[in-house]
Amino acid sequence: MQFHAGHCPNCHNGRLFLFRESETGDVYGHCEECEQGYRSPDEIESRGGFLTLLNDSDAEWATADEISRSVWANYRIFQT
Ligand SMILES: [Zn+2]
Repeated sequence: MQFHAGHCPNCHNGRLFLFRESETGDVYGHCEECEQGYRSPDEIESRGGFLTLLNDSDAEWATADEISRSVWANYRIFQT
């Protein structure tokens, strides 16, 4: 099961799939289209974020349990 946080504010096209960074345990949103990453819902609202290309290899799909203990816990999350 995979989770996403709706559509990307950068490209308005991709969905923000949630990954867990292996090294830090942080859950972040990763746009499937433009590769923009968001570390928190606040970054989506402010259209901040970072480019995920550099550290993408050290991440796995976030689980429901991990999401519930992260900054995304109270955000609207969709399942696929
Ligand atoms: Zn995008």
